[in-house]
Amino acid sequence: MKIVKRISYLILIICLLSVQASLPEDAFGQKDKTLNEQLKEFEELKAELRANESQQAVTKEEIGAAREEIAQLSQEQEDLEKEIETLNEEISQLEKDIISKNDEMKNIISYYQLSSTGEDAYLEYLFTATDFTDFIYRMSIAEQLSDYNDTLIDEYTDLIKENENKKEEASAKMVELEAKTKELESRLIKLNSKLETTMEGAMSIEQEIEVMDRLIKNLKEEYNMYKCDYNLTYDECIIEALGDQLYDTKFYRPLQSGRVSSVWGPRSFTLGGRPYSDFHRAVDFSTSRGSKVYAAANGQVKLVINAKASYDKNHKNVCGGNKIYIIHIVDGKKYTTAYYHLKDIKVKEGDLVTHNTVIATVGGTSYEYWDNCSTGAHLHFQVAPGHYGDEFKTYSGFNAASINPKKVINYPSRGRPFSGR
Ligand SMILES: [Zn+2]
Repeated sequence: MKIVKRISYLILIICLLSVQASLPEDAFGQKDKTLNEQLKEFEELKAELRANESQQAVTKEEIGAAREEIAQLSQEQEDLEKEIETLNEEISQLEKDIISKNDEMKNIISYYQLSSTGEDAYLEYLFTATDFTDFIYRMSIAEQLSDYNDTLIDEYTDLIKENENKKEEASAKMVELEAKTKELESRLIKLNSKLETTMEGAMSIEQEIEVMDRLIKNLKEEYNMYKCDYNLTYDECIIEALGDQLYDTKFYRPLQSGRVSSVWGPRSFTLGGRPYSDFHRAVDFSTSRGSKVYAAANGQVKLVINAKASYDKNHKNVCGGNKIYIIHIVDGKKYTTAYYHLKDIKVKEGDLVTHNTVIATVGGTSYEYWDNCSTGAHLHFQVAPGHYGDEFKTYSGFNAASINPKKVINYPSRGRPFSGR
């Protein structure tokens, strides 16, 4: 099949050469390189990646330490919140005590005034006391009541003082809590920017170099297959060879139906019981496991990461699982689209696809044991202007170049379903 395809490409090239298809001038970046230049660049990049390896190990350690610190801070924060809660309970109890003391005092004062002061008491004696003994008895009770009243006033004052102290303590704790929260937040921001490159699609240096070796091997194969001079630029070679098969007028949704579960931008989520946040440089479509994944536009499969195969070989999980990268020219501009968390891969590197080609099926569940960065069936769809292997040569380069997919493809807002492509 591939041979037939290739022969037809050769025929196509001859046709194209005779027709001299006119290509939009801005279709290709200014970074067009000859294969020889690219080979040299690849070697430099590989050396750079290897040099980065030790630095990445340090970053990973830092992330581990920061995570621990954040866990500790969260615990401290929780403890402080509990303390404040207890203080507030104590304060409200004190307020209740103060109110009841206050009532008690009012009663005593009114009785004391009625029964023991000046004329009132004398008149009372005249009209109610049966004898002098009774009057003396009443006066002594009034004196006792007066003492009791003094004690009550002292207790009342103490309660108010205690309440004020507790309130001060609580507001100090609150300030402390706010400072801790701020500290936690700034730590999280720093940690997140580090995590950003490690989440969902991150490749290890090992894998990155493996991918690069494959890319350059494919590139050489393409040059040889299309009989391109190594001193031609990649664009000159591939466009001559593939012509309008890379072209499309627009992007299509990569699924027949689904629901937008995560959009471009900062987000928080839980993975393996741990809270994470990152900057999502893509859109996620949730749909049932095994659903067909289509190429978003005509193009060529540039890269296939078979995470299942590598897991079966070395038992290492790959964040993002099985992945496919496709290069396109849409509306005269170069793009790369990426598809992550795939169950089955249906295409090979170098395959030409149309926007109706089924390239894979949806994974992302626990059945896809080789993918440790997904919590449910969904497709992660990412897009960057430029071609993988040309404008950018690494995963992080692709990631950095990525744009909000909403700019090139139509889909509803987060949480909303869609049907049709
Ligand atoms: Zn995603």
